[in-house]
Amino acid sequence: MTKTPQQKLTEDQTHKAYLIAKYVYENPKTKTIAQGAKELSSEHKVNFGTAKILIRVLQDLLSGLEFTRALNEYTMRYYLQNITLDYGLSARDRALMALMKHIIYRETGNKLTGRKPVKQIAMRLAYEEFLSDGDKYKGLAEDQIEQEKILKNLVNKNLINKSIKDEIRRMNGDETEIITITLSLYKRENRAVALIKLLRGAKCQMCGTGILKQDDSYYIEAAHITPKYMGGKETLENIIILCPNHHKEFDLGACKITHRDTKSIAFTLNGQHYNLSLD
Ligand SMILES: [Zn+2]
Repeated sequence: MTKTPQQKLTEDQTHKAYLIAKYVYENPKTKTIAQGAKELSSEHKVNFGTAKILIRVLQDLLSGLEFTRALNEYTMRYYLQNITLDYGLSARDRALMALMKHIIYRETGNKLTGRKPVKQIAMRLAYEEFLSDGDKYKGLAEDQIEQEKILKNLVNKNLINKSIKDEIRRMNGDETEIITITLSLYKRENRAVALIKLLRGAKCQMCGTGILKQDDSYYIEAAHITPKYMGGKETLENIIILCPNHHKEFDLGACKITHRDTKSIAFTLNGQHYNLSLD
């Protein structure tokens, strides 16, 4: 087999690779690995060989199977994090199992084929971090799942904006961590976030995107303007609704807030200017 030289991927290409690979995994009858790879290479300029690897590896991670071709560290971490977010903790554990099989494969040479053992330092580090950092990702994934459950219940209730806003404001004054809604226990902050998502139409406030899920609801994330660890709360003034791509860019990119009051926020993010309503 001829080896395809792996190209250096941009973060956006990694994001697109994940989305296409996820689609192929969930809809194998609609799109094959080869079709997905073709799309990734023609529309997002990833070379075809690399595109196939990117799609196959996600299938192997989700199935807990050994894979032989390597991903770069950024892509591996991106995949692990998004697997956790999209498929939950057991999927993350399966993915880590697949990664460990891969590490062992790469670190074991083969005398017959002349394959040399290669130390997998970056991959071992990612593995260790995702394993021990489980709690961080656990919190993230579970909150996201809970918010979606609440949002799904809220959507059919035809609530008017004023009553949604009133509830968000009321919740902010409430210090109870856990609340009961129709016999289910929820974290108060997840209820508040779900209400804000509902109010703002479950679409990214920066680009208008919402990710349609199989059950016809939308996947969307909430970003804190003042981070939680700095005391930022789940209020209309402090939450913006973003797609996963813009959420990452908002958290990791070069961001300068140029104006902020209780009704809107304006900022420059990686050189692009945005003005978002906080109403
Ligand atoms: Zn967006």
